[in-house]
Amino acid sequence: MPIYFAPGRVNLIGEHTDYNGGFVFPCALDFGTRLTLTANSERLLRFRSMNMAETVDVSIDQPFRPLPNHSWANYPLGSIAVLMQQTGCRLEKGYDLLFEGNVPLGAGLSSSASIEVVTAYAFNDILQLGLSPTQLALVAQQAEHTYAGVNCGIMDQFISANGKQDNAVFLNCDTLQFDYVPLHLDDVSIVLTNSHSPHKLDAGTYNQRVKECQQAVNIISRHKPIRQLADLTVSDFQEIQSTITNPVILRRARHVVTEIQRTRDAVKALRNNDLATFGQLMNQSHQSLRDDYEVTGQELDTLAQTAWQIPGVIGSRMTGGGFGGCTVSLVRNDAIGHFQQTVADTYRQTTGLQAEFYIAHTGGGARTLQQ
Ligand code: ADP
Ligand code: MG
Repeated sequence: MPIYFAPGRVNLIGEHTDYNGGFVFPCALDFGTRLTLTANSERLLRFRSMNMAETVDVSIDQPFRPLPNHSWANYPLGSIAVLMQQTGCRLEKGYDLLFEGNVPLGAGLSSSASIEVVTAYAFNDILQLGLSPTQLALVAQQAEHTYAGVNCGIMDQFISANGKQDNAVFLNCDTLQFDYVPLHLDDVSIVLTNSHSPHKLDAGTYNQRVKECQQAVNIISRHKPIRQLADLTVSDFQEIQSTITNPVILRRARHVVTEIQRTRDAVKALRNNDLATFGQLMNQSHQSLRDDYEVTGQELDTLAQTAWQIPGVIGSRMTGGGFGGCTVSLVRNDAIGHFQQTVADTYRQTTGLQAEFYIAHTGGGARTLQQ
């Protein structure tokens, strides 16, 4: 009975840049989704999850199509459907799929990519399709577009497929060229704070931001031909920004262009062991997501802004799509206790909500746990 695993991720910097062809800098976590796969003789895909009450059975003899009512099984079904479509392969028998995840669902740590990627990885393995990790990431991204209805970039699926322990990945989301960058953090930890906010970034709002960026490209292209916002440097943008008369579109584009530059600068700082600069860029990233991209909200702002005041905090920002979910903070190990206490107290007083903390440990990408 083969068992597979694919991780969730935390993005250190480079938010909402992936679908604009820009840079991102995520690392894979040591938690994720596990899939146990067993062949059955029923000609059914039977989807079960230890994390969900809903069970779903899908016939392998009918064309696959998205399930109604936002079923969780769309994520793995989507991966199988896209994999079959792209390789021209057909399932000759049914399978029981049992999932178990320990990524908090909907917390911006990409449980969705981990369930998509583990499924694509497992079927690539069992059917011997020979796709590379990056090809599997592209399959999983397509599954999220067509089966979950979220027009996401490639970051989450890419890092879930290609992650490496003790490294972050500096990824160019246009060319998919990437470098592993070792995380030598010494006496500093990556601390995740779950806002447990009831406000979620829904597919509608996410897709609206994707659309606003496309509008910015259309407007700018009348003056300077570009394919995507990543084609502009910060100084290019300063030159043409007066042509964008819609203030909302102007702010969205400014976030993306400056965030891409911050991501380059942050990676350079890390390579020079300059964590202080890395932290300042994280803080600036949050401010840009708050003021220009408008995807933070009171909960994430309270977490980040409280963290900025605490001695021993090197940097703190929202991570993931926004509104709810988590912040990521770099905190000196001797300050973690005080950090947790202060952030939890202020957050409870301001929002009435209870924050939850995890010390992040990096992990590897999608893999077989048992043959
Ligand atoms: P995030 O990716 O930030 O965790 P999303 O809203 O993109 O948040 O994805 C969360 C959804 O992914 C869940 O609501 C569920 O439908 C699906 N999912 C993720 N992990 C699992 C799992 N282990 N079992 C069943 N469904 C899962
Ligand atoms: Mg997701």
